[in-house]
Amino acid sequence: TSFEQLGLPKEIHDGLLAMNYKKPSKIQEKALPLMLANPPQNMIAQSQSGTGKTGAFVLTVLSRIDLKKPTQPQALVLAPSRELARQIQSVIQSIGQFCTDLIVEAAIPGNVSRETGVKASAVVGTPGTVMDLIRRRQFDVSQLKLLVIDEADNMLDQQGLGDQCVRVKSMLPKDIQILLFSATFPEKVMTYAERFAPNAHQMKL
Ligand code: AMP
Repeated sequence: TSFEQLGLPKEIHDGLLAMNYKKPSKIQEKALPLMLANPPQNMIAQSQSGTGKTGAFVLTVLSRIDLKKPTQPQALVLAPSRELARQIQSVIQSIGQFCTDLIVEAAIPGNVSRETGVKASAVVGTPGTVMDLIRRRQFDVSQLKLLVIDEADNMLDQQGLGDQCVRVKSMLPKDIQILLFSATFPEKVMTYAERFAPNAHQMKL
């Protein structure tokens, strides 16, 4: 399979070329056709880091955004740490470098203006900060199409983070597409994951 066959818009394809991604990795090849399908479908994907999992969900994030509404949040990625949120933000910006008007904001402590609130097409954040912003009405979630949880084993298992993820999800549109990515899914986490992302495709690589 090539990236052409996935039917990605030209500006995303140009971003892949600029990053020197010549062909999809295994996980990208297997997961992208399902993640990009319409109507949108949920996915629980098990994949080690280094396999291209970030690229897989970043391509889905970019594909779900309508750039005619660049300041309206349409995709949300949750990660367990500020550092990882920043890394994911930078991958979205790199692959999305030719997506005119794309705005990617990090919803991490101290980074979002209290005056303007979140004004971005895609948001990458830690669950506690995202929850606070939504509660204070500084993050309009009404047009979100996609929720991605990275490192889902850490995110859904740990008492505090898991609760925050569930709370955030409860405030999002009910028909949102949910993608869970993790290097491992211990049995207990898989039980949470299946409840969190109902009827999800499951994929292991
Ligand atoms: P990840 O598994 O998301 O941590 O990605 C591992 C590394 O592979 C990163 O440095 C990516 O930039 C790179 N990468 C991801 N997808 C591709 C691809 N299709 N072609 C070449 N490199 C890639």
